[in-house]
Amino acid sequence: MRKTIVAANWKMNKDVDEASEFVYAFQEEMKDLDPNAEVVICPPFIALDAVAELLQESGFKLGAQNIHYENDGAFTGEISARMLKSLGVHYVIVGHSERRQFFGETDEIVAKKVKKALSSDLKVILCVGESLSERDGGVTEKVLERQVKAALDGLTAQQLTSLVIAYEPIWAIGTGRNATPQQAQDAHAFIRSTVAGMFGKEVATSLTIQYGGSVKPENAAELLSRPDVDGALVGGASLKADSFAKIVKSSPASK
Ligand code: PEP
Repeated sequence: MRKTIVAANWKMNKDVDEASEFVYAFQEEMKDLDPNAEVVICPPFIALDAVAELLQESGFKLGAQNIHYENDGAFTGEISARMLKSLGVHYVIVGHSERRQFFGETDEIVAKKVKKALSSDLKVILCVGESLSERDGGVTEKVLERQVKAALDGLTAQQLTSLVIAYEPIWAIGTGRNATPQQAQDAHAFIRSTVAGMFGKEVATSLTIQYGGSVKPENAAELLSRPDVDGALVGGASLKADSFAKIVKSSPASK
């Protein structure tokens, strides 16, 4: 059985006051509701502390959007796993396409970050996904296989229990154009079979695979109804408490 996980990726949005206002409003929306899904909120670094404080006893989890793979040292502007842990962070997003695209994160860097996070007792949301030209060129599976294998190589089956994969086709991120439920299902099934080839069927069956890319209250339920779609990583629609709450409320229980 695998957990449904719905995560909010705020990217470079919201200051501390706005982040706190969101948490108050979201908790109000979710009052007396026991969501089927595990809920993860990933604010920018500057708001982690405030959000951690407000989420205490809520059952919602705190996530960071990035991590450095070294423990400490001369890496100006970077944040280590130990620093995130000291703020009460549970999850970290690794390998988001914006990090790969705008900050030069290669498969190799992504793999180092995944290893550092897991060995530091942080859970990982690993993002993979193809560009539009890769999809149009018929190499989606090749790209997904390369990204998954590079990031998971050398991990143990035990470590995989702390890892979630987010399938995020780049052409669907922030564009308003989501993958169709069938496109998402096909990519998720392929990712699961790749993981099965590396770690065995049991590990792959228990792996949560989220879909990300223009998830909104209007399309969440249908996307998440597909057998291999186990949750969502939500950007734009997670910035407003009511729309994120609607997505969480429409999420099915564990599969
Ligand atoms: C994301 O950034 O992970 C994302 C899926 O963004 P959006 O929901 O805005 O497409």
